[in-house]
Amino acid sequence: MIVDAEKCVGCGMCRIYCPVSAIQVVNKKAVIDQDLCTECANCQRAKVCPRDALQKVPLTWPRVVRSQMSDVTTVYRGVNGRGTEEMKTNDVTGRFKKGYAGIAVEMGRPQVSSTLRDLEKMTKVFAQHGAEFEDCNPITSYIVDRSTGKIDPSILDERVISGIIEVTVPIDRLQENVEALIAAADQLDTVFSLDVVCVNNEDGTNDAREILDKAGIWYRPNGKNNVGLGHVDK
Ligand code: SF4
Ligand code: SF4
Repeated sequence: MIVDAEKCVGCGMCRIYCPVSAIQVVNKKAVIDQDLCTECANCQRAKVCPRDALQKVPLTWPRVVRSQMSDVTTVYRGVNGRGTEEMKTNDVTGRFKKGYAGIAVEMGRPQVSSTLRDLEKMTKVFAQHGAEFEDCNPITSYIVDRSTGKIDPSILDERVISGIIEVTVPIDRLQENVEALIAAADQLDTVFSLDVVCVNNEDGTNDAREILDKAGIWYRPNGKNNVGLGHVDK
């Protein structure tokens, strides 16, 4: 996103719509920090600029990755959004079978954001611990070697509001993956939250809960059924 300085009157109305505080008003003109800007287009979509001074510019690789991951109107390689659709509709898709757990690492947040370099630190952890990356996920599409978790080097400095890594692991490797992710947190220049998905046993127990309990890992359990959502076969 750029500002047409000829048009801008420095009113500052656009600033509060930027989720990463990339816009400052300097000498009565809006200035966008191009390193912080995630190309989400929120500032322009808000339609608050009285002079129509905010302008999208055509993006090329690698910067286009920012909008692919941060602009909610972007559909990239058939994936609309940041992922987790398949995780959250397990009651419909049955993706997670008995004996397996799903893990999602949600990296970055509004006001924090994340670089692909930080996302790669976690994809590498998963690769070292036998995780299988979800196909229908934008971050997976940026991984050039799933055996190492290596992301395309040309995009590592690109910044996105957030990115979600989604994997499946055999249930007996859940604990080592979670512990390795927590250990890697110190290397990150962003924040993340961790989701674990595992279907209940018929008697109501849950293998993931037992593993996390034994490992002393705190969590907040949630049951989830997406009534009426998910795929419809015609
Ligand atoms: S495109 Fe998004 S990140 Fe960039 S200045 Fe506008 S609101 Fe901020
Ligand atoms: S809303 Fe428009 S005129 Fe006001 S500071 Fe932002 S770019 Fe400039």
